[in-house]
Amino acid sequence: MKIGFIGLGNMGAPMARNLAEAGHEVTGYDMAEVQVPGVGLAHTSAAAAEGAEVVITMLPNGEILRAVAAQILPVMTSGAVHLDCSTVDVDSARAVAELAHSHGVQAMDAPVSGGTGGADAGTLTFMAGGAVEAFAKVAPLFEIMGQKAVHCGGSGNGQAAKICNNMILGVTMVATCEAFALADKLGLDRQAMFDVVSTSSGYSWSMNAYCPAPGVGPQSPADNGYQPGFAAALMLKDLRLSQLAAASAGAETPMGAAAEELYTAFVEEEGQGAKDFSAMLPRFTERNG
Ligand code: NAD
Repeated sequence: MKIGFIGLGNMGAPMARNLAEAGHEVTGYDMAEVQVPGVGLAHTSAAAAEGAEVVITMLPNGEILRAVAAQILPVMTSGAVHLDCSTVDVDSARAVAELAHSHGVQAMDAPVSGGTGGADAGTLTFMAGGAVEAFAKVAPLFEIMGQKAVHCGGSGNGQAAKICNNMILGVTMVATCEAFALADKLGLDRQAMFDVVSTSSGYSWSMNAYCPAPGVGPQSPADNGYQPGFAAALMLKDLRLSQLAAASAGAETPMGAAAEELYTAFVEEEGQGAKDFSAMLPRFTERNG
């Protein structure tokens, strides 16, 4: 397939490389100077998109996505697919899809989970929103870049699935961390706490697979000085997107709002955005004295 790839950063570069390695003809563009093995470079995003059957974008936010979409959609071939894999707000995803349709281009929002390790290894999970035909057309590309793709419904539903999942993740991580800090205060050993909760009704991915307490449970960023993993700044981005979506849809999400407030303080006031998001545990223990 002839593929355009715009946004060759930490995630986009390895994803584009995997597509090229699988034999696709990939032309990339990034504002920054980048080199990606097997990927030809264009001088503008429009030039990377022109004549491509699928154009993939992997960009920082909705505003940038809207700006890039306005440049590429008018030059794309009718019937081609714009596949956006960035994590952006639901409203931007739906606005970009509408613009695509007005240019005769098919649109699919497909944010990912799995991080840079998953992008590198080709084991990402895609949550996709858009028409069934567009999903079928890009499914072989999902298979190269990832291990799983779930079709979640119409445009914007991929972003909706991603932020709902990550809102649960942010909330359960905060709950797990505050419970460990309470257990410390009550004189309960962390290993005993893990042994009970991980096999009781308080279990979650945050506790069982990504335990925020060092030396307890499976290997996690807590065992590596809270190097990410998944940086607190990225968790804050996703929590903000969940709260934007909740406000726009008129949904009540009090726990998501509380998690957003905590991560805002952690990242912006306390300057801990580069730490893993599970470093909320030492934050609680320090504050508890
Ligand atoms: P990044 O900052 O490393 O990459 C973004 C790239 O976009 C940069 O290289 C930047 O130069 C380029 N760019 C910005 N504006 C541009 C423009 N107008 N035209 C062309 N290129 C432009 O970010 P990343 O970590 O690769 O993340 C990309 C997206 O994936 C984000 O939406 C992020 O939320 C999401 N995501 C990231 C991770 C992760 O672990 N890093 C995990 C899941 C999802």
